Amino acid sequence: MTGSRITKRPGNLSPLPNLRDYEGTCSTFSWDQAARLLDGLPGGAGLNICHEAVDRHLRHGRGGKTALRWLGKGGERRELTYGDLSLATGRFANALGSLGVQPGERVFLLMGRLPELYVALLGALKARCVVTPLFSAFGPEPIAMRAELGDARVLVTTPELYQRKVRGLRARLPGLKHVILVGEPPAGEPGVQGWDALVGSASSDYVIGPTDPESLALLHFTSGTTGRPKGAMHVHGAVVAHAATALYALDLHDDDIFWCTADPGWVTGTSYGVIAPLVTGVTSVVAEAEFDAQTWYGVLEREKVSVWYTAPTAIRMMMKLGADAVRAYKLPALRFMASVGEPLNPEAVVWGQEAFGLPFHDNWWQTETGGIMIANFPALDIKPGSMGRPLPGITAAIVQRRADASVQVVAEPGIDGELALKVPWPSMMRGYLHEDERYRKCFAGGWYLTGDLARRDEDGYFWFVGRADDVIKSAGHLIGPFEVESALLEHPAVAEAAVIGKPDPIVGEVVKAFVALKPGFEAGEALRRELLGHARKRLGAAVAPKEIDFRANLPKTRSGKIMRRLLKARELGLPEGDLSTLESDEK
Ligand code: AMP
Repeated sequence: MTGSRITKRPGNLSPLPNLRDYEGTCSTFSWDQAARLLDGLPGGAGLNICHEAVDRHLRHGRGGKTALRWLGKGGERRELTYGDLSLATGRFANALGSLGVQPGERVFLLMGRLPELYVALLGALKARCVVTPLFSAFGPEPIAMRAELGDARVLVTTPELYQRKVRGLRARLPGLKHVILVGEPPAGEPGVQGWDALVGSASSDYVIGPTDPESLALLHFTSGTTGRPKGAMHVHGAVVAHAATALYALDLHDDDIFWCTADPGWVTGTSYGVIAPLVTGVTSVVAEAEFDAQTWYGVLEREKVSVWYTAPTAIRMMMKLGADAVRAYKLPALRFMASVGEPLNPEAVVWGQEAFGLPFHDNWWQTETGGIMIANFPALDIKPGSMGRPLPGITAAIVQRRADASVQVVAEPGIDGELALKVPWPSMMRGYLHEDERYRKCFAGGWYLTGDLARRDEDGYFWFVGRADDVIKSAGHLIGPFEVESALLEHPAVAEAAVIGKPDPIVGEVVKAFVALKPGFEAGEALRRELLGHARKRLGAAVAPKEIDFRANLPKTRSGKIMRRLLKARELGLPEGDLSTLESDEK
């Protein structure tokens, strides 16, 4: 399959792709020029994401155009025009001001895909606060950890999530001064207010203050192999990359109806579920419901979605139901489909053609890069299984690390190494919050080292090989083994824990834990269930392990580090590799 190719005839595509001459555009592209896609704040007062995504469209005659088309899970619909969004974000920004919240302070968001999520996200950027969206399926532990690390001042959530996950954490979060609940607030709860009373009564007139393009806008937490989650810091200037990638990689045109299925609790849902489509001025569909193939096909048909950005796990789930299920829907508007977040198997790309009459275009990026870096573009041939080619303005290479921590670029094609990107570009993270050393280690010789292993072929296409670390990707969500192990270790029966990603045909990897018990505890089904339940309660369903195996001991290095890789190799029946550092074993 890796040798096959889907040939494109760009001249036959309608509308003509924004990026028609890939090589030519790459040779002339500059980020300074891309910045001209945007307006900037009036009077040269800087660059603010909310101004670019919302307010400026009123000057360009789009005030009455639908910006967000919200589809509630109960069948409700709500349309917010760019004009409505401008007023609503103004109200939210004023509401923050009435609470005394200052620019630079952190506003955390924890809720499903409700319209208020989008208003709060953009409104907080308007107020020049720093926004951290959290995934609503997180359990209390990941929420508390991120709110503590990120110094959350404000949290916007729902009464139900507050009650279930946040209320018990308040003592741990003394800096969290204000909770805004989308719904009825409980009586007599200090610092807790209802959205309608607070935001509904605020004025919608708001003039965005001067915003330095280098000022912090978003703080996205991502997981590493060890230690706490890392807060990747992104600035308002990142919007230049959102605008350019929306044009080139997603091929958005003015009259598109765009649907990004990602949740804003993850970076794709923020960069491409909120910012990029609005910056481009298109109509963006927001579906509140979780994945269900028939529901999704219904959304594509009814809403006349023309550009669809989704993820491999969902595509594989649709494949299981077969192409006929898709063909029952009429989708003449659909013209471009893209996918991100995990490896997209070649069969899935081709299945797109069989079922939808269009291939899926895989693209690659990560929380740290802030925007799409490598993509299959509408006008270029697709090699199914490849992530595509670097975006104009992005130089990608395969490098190998040397012992002295410098890197060597691998010039020849076909060799595995670490995927590296030449710095800078506008949406590159500006640091990991409070972790300068960890941030510095991501760079060598002018390259950002992505932590992914990849290969480049003779035509300049990049192919994903694997992760260089032990981080797990399950259903597109990045999960740090350390976070899961820490939650297991909190249980009184657990002496040691190690967590791996076990390959799964649908979700990519499932989280599997190995546990050694303290003396006096007996391994068995009852304890297994108890530990699964404990982890689920602490971490939430999206992060908790799905499988737990008991071991008398876990294999460790001489320095006492548990060898997750060895556990994984044994689990999968793969060669055990170099065991020279192995000190004690499970056997
Ligand atoms: P996140 O920071 O959560 O967006 O996860 C980024 C990671 O997801 C990357 O470093 C890759 O390991 C993986 N990833 C993202 N897109 C792709 C893709 N198209 N193919 C393979 N892996 C991907």
